[in-house]
Amino acid sequence: MFVYADNAATTSVSRAALDAMLPYLTENYGNPSSLYAFGQKATEALQEARETVAKCINAEPREIYFTSGGSEADNQAIVSAARAGARKGKKHLISTQFEHHAVLHTLAKLEKEGFEVTLLDPHADGVIRLEDVEAAIRPDTALVSVMFANNEIGTVQPIAEIGALCRARGIPFHTDAVQAAGHMPIDVKAMNIDLLALSGHKFHAPKGVGVLYARRGMVLTNIIEGGAQERGKRAGTENVAGIVALAAALRESCEHMEENTAKIIPMRDKLFTELSKIPHSKINGSLEHHVPGTVNMCFEGIEGESLLLMLDDQGICASSGSACTSGSLDPSHVLLSIGLPHEVAHGSLRLSIGEYNSMEEIDHIIETVPQVVSYLRNMSPVWDELQKGQRPHLI
Ligand SMILES: *Cc1c(COP(=O)(O)O)cnc(C)c1O
Repeated sequence: MFVYADNAATTSVSRAALDAMLPYLTENYGNPSSLYAFGQKATEALQEARETVAKCINAEPREIYFTSGGSEADNQAIVSAARAGARKGKKHLISTQFEHHAVLHTLAKLEKEGFEVTLLDPHADGVIRLEDVEAAIRPDTALVSVMFANNEIGTVQPIAEIGALCRARGIPFHTDAVQAAGHMPIDVKAMNIDLLALSGHKFHAPKGVGVLYARRGMVLTNIIEGGAQERGKRAGTENVAGIVALAAALRESCEHMEENTAKIIPMRDKLFTELSKIPHSKINGSLEHHVPGTVNMCFEGIEGESLLLMLDDQGICASSGSACTSGSLDPSHVLLSIGLPHEVAHGSLRLSIGEYNSMEEIDHIIETVPQVVSYLRNMSPVWDELQKGQRPHLI
């Protein structure tokens, strides 16, 4: 049996998204910048996609900028807010320790340029506290950036509360909503969000297309220079087919959000319930504030990488952290940020499921993971020491 349980890394393209995009790869291949009617078909498709995306997050169409993905949108949002702040003498940026690297590395680049960066720690439940954001704010704070939902542990942050706080203090607020878009309701107006990033391939659109939402009045800095596409803020001939697919996929996900959630939650809960029966295991991240599909657990005495390889042999695609950190031997910065010791963080497993998964697949995971964990523990010198009492159990 083949089970794809890594939907937080990427998703398959939905039928609706594929059907919507195909005409723009075949008969309607015009360039939206061309003046003849054939090119204008593409222009109209872009406009319609912009309206659809805006409606899904309660924005205005002119506040939607199409990008090459979530990473580019995060980069542009943060750099824009930093540059705008610096022009007013404000060079302090607030974010969190457990952001995606698209945010963390952009902040690190700005730090080298002379910005001061405060990275807040999430609490042990994987949730950032409003009081901590408030306490970090200074007169020279140019930006607060807090992710909507964490990509590794699935915890959802108090976005509306942070948005209200920032609005009251006149500080731009950015959120990386890549893991939330299409999976949870987003209302940029009600939540007082100024800048937001989302990415198509996390909700059944193709890879390589995303959105930067920038509230009217936010001044954007270009990351890519060239033509006047996207109101002059993002040069380059538009990925028309990808943009059309993104809009179709987002609309479909938003229209079916309740029913998808109702399908995913019982599968996720069964995973948590059954896998928690494995001795010396631990669930990471509060289940109270959580995206529907993400399950993150640690199993003491094993290496997450070995677990993944053995699950792969059994047809199960999973992850031990973000796709970008996999391949490195360092444990996940997210798991360390919620206070897990290195030894425990090394034995992590992320299963992220979606509406295309079935209960039969969940049963296959539930049958396989405990077997693989005991197999690996039997070969593990660390587990041996734990069993003999030569080292203390940490979970
Ligand atoms: C996937 C992801 C990104 C990056 O999006 P891309 O479209 O792959 O560049 C950024 N932030 C989070 C939280 C993600 O999960």
